[in-house]
Amino acid sequence: MTTKPLVAILSGAGVSTDSGIPDYRGPNGLWRRDPEAEKLVTYEYYMSDPEIRRRSWLMRRESRALHAEPNAAHRAVAELERSGVPVRVITQNVDGLHQLAGLSARKVLELHGTAREVVCTKCPARGSMEDALARVDAGEDDPPCLECGSVLKPATVMFGEPLDPVVLGEAVAITKACQVFIAVGTSLQVQPAAGLAGVAADHGARLVIVNAEPTPYDEIADEVVREPIGTALPELLRGLSG
Ligand SMILES: [Zn+2]
Repeated sequence: MTTKPLVAILSGAGVSTDSGIPDYRGPNGLWRRDPEAEKLVTYEYYMSDPEIRRRSWLMRRESRALHAEPNAAHRAVAELERSGVPVRVITQNVDGLHQLAGLSARKVLELHGTAREVVCTKCPARGSMEDALARVDAGEDDPPCLECGSVLKPATVMFGEPLDPVVLGEAVAITKACQVFIAVGTSLQVQPAAGLAGVAADHGARLVIVNAEPTPYDEIADEVVREPIGTALPELLRGLSG
């Protein structure tokens, strides 16, 4: 009996482009190019200015991200898990589409949190974004925490907020333990996520990069794929499940 290799997949914005979700927070993402929009997702502005919060909730209400559907790349990762290959996903995306495609939630580490939930900035209360937006629809322009009345925010890591050290620690542990590390749809330009590619290579994993544009880690990669993710990733993963 052969043991199947542990596959770690680092997924970035490029994985969700086919689902109609643009790159918001990458180095060339929408928010970085629009200082006014960036304020809506910057912790300091969000916490200090009720007007920023009001506009932030409106922006989320108008966004179609919550209605997006998983695409072929998300489905291929879920299929890999079903085929019995041990797989863990470390994602920079906040759209929850890996889980919607059928991948077990416990197999997904969300480095930047999730836009599908909201958290209180003072107490441990959590809720669904859908419920919070329903309150906005009903006339609350800055819905407070229902438990303690404090400021409510999306369960995403805003600019100016640190990554969750527990989630990051798990991501590093998986990266060190895996035999295959696939970085897909990420420019590998934002630390600390990008550095995981180097950690994987240092610990002997086979490093595969699937991205339309060159990345700083292409030179140390065992394989670089420039084909569109929607076809390239399913093909690559089928090869692993064989
Ligand atoms: Zn609260």
